[in-house]
Amino acid sequence: MADCIFCKIAAKEIPSTPVYEDDTVIAFKDLEPQAPVHVLIIPKKHIRSLLGLTEEDKAVIAHIHVDVVGRLARELGIAEKGFRLVANTGEEGGQTVGHLHFHLLGGRSMAWPPG
Ligand code: C5P
Repeated sequence: MADCIFCKIAAKEIPSTPVYEDDTVIAFKDLEPQAPVHVLIIPKKHIRSLLGLTEEDKAVIAHIHVDVVGRLARELGIAEKGFRLVANTGEEGGQTVGHLHFHLLGGRSMAWPPG
């Protein structure tokens, strides 16, 4: 999608610091980290949010959860103590970028409820 910053990151049109990439997914360091480890995991396909998912997206969403999250958590050293995976959705959910992304946060104790 032409004006989407995460599509541009996926297409390497703007720089990021990737920590994982395959045919359908890229993960990169958040520019404003909220924890010692803070990466964003995104489908390369433009999907506006969890609410934009369709049947054809089941494979990539499963792939992210089954294959990518645990692998990254282990590689980034946050698997043992634990981490948080967040998909802010819509205005009140705190979503500021309209391309589905999962925040993987770890390296410190998380508070609940979130702000
Ligand atoms: O959930 P939300 O939509 O607010 O998250 C967007 C995230 O994308 C923010 O954490 C922001 O720091 C990050 N971001 C980034 N690189 C950009 C633009 C936004 O890491 N170029």
